[in-house]
Amino acid sequence: MFDFDGTITEKGQSCPSAEMVDTLVRLSQKMPIGFCTGRQLESFERHGLDEILEQINDDKREKFLENLYLFAENGAVGYDFHPEKHKFEEFYRVPWPKDLIDRDELKKMVNKAVVEYGDIYENAHRVVIVIRTKLHDVDKRDINEVYKLSEKIYEVSKTLLAKISPNYEEYLHVGNSGLGVIIGPANGDKDHGILEFAKILKERRNFEFNEKLREIIVFGDSGHVGGNDHFFLKGDLGSPYSVGEFYSKNSYPKPVIDSNGKRILHAKGTIHFLENEII
Ligand SMILES: [Mg+2]
Repeated sequence: MFDFDGTITEKGQSCPSAEMVDTLVRLSQKMPIGFCTGRQLESFERHGLDEILEQINDDKREKFLENLYLFAENGAVGYDFHPEKHKFEEFYRVPWPKDLIDRDELKKMVNKAVVEYGDIYENAHRVVIVIRTKLHDVDKRDINEVYKLSEKIYEVSKTLLAKISPNYEEYLHVGNSGLGVIIGPANGDKDHGILEFAKILKERRNFEFNEKLREIIVFGDSGHVGGNDHFFLKGDLGSPYSVGEFYSKNSYPKPVIDSNGKRILHAKGTIHFLENEII
């Protein structure tokens, strides 16, 4: 299972490299693969799937699509690719926690609060609320400036939610991907994606897993507290590896290291692990 931005793509890039596509396609001939991303379905299709399908050889296409799963909106909505219909079909969706606050009402409040740093990415996401930085459409943007804005948005969003309810974290999680901030149901974070991945593989394809689903290897780059992979890489479920700065010395997420013991980050780390440990 893979986070997308910064894990499948290099830091600051929106599409995967040809080398990554090649690695993923070969991996998909051996086992199911799931992408668990803050993006919504259409953005994943445009910047991930289309890129892969353009490069894939005909003899590998069918298996790739059969083994493809998408956990979008940070784990709040899951899709199984339907080869005959040639499209993703939703198989679960976690509801918005209305008891805390109405989704549209929160959108308005957030938009106001973050106005200096960015705005809500409108009408694209089905469950979560995504706030992007004001540099999102600037061509030659400095990625570190984007990170700074994203951090500001993260802080402002948390402060706003704490004012709405001091217990907001029981209902909503706030995650910072570095490129923007995601607010979504606490029970529909990326760890829920791991659970749903195991469930669909058990039900539809007769896979078996141990209690903690350690057979599922998980890759992400924002595992620190507040990062949008925090719950993905925490280690409650799956076997998580970090290709971002954060990792754990004696627990999860584990670092990806080369033969000299040096850490390898982002897409290069993901490719290294897949090529050396799995394929
Ligand atoms: Mg990421």
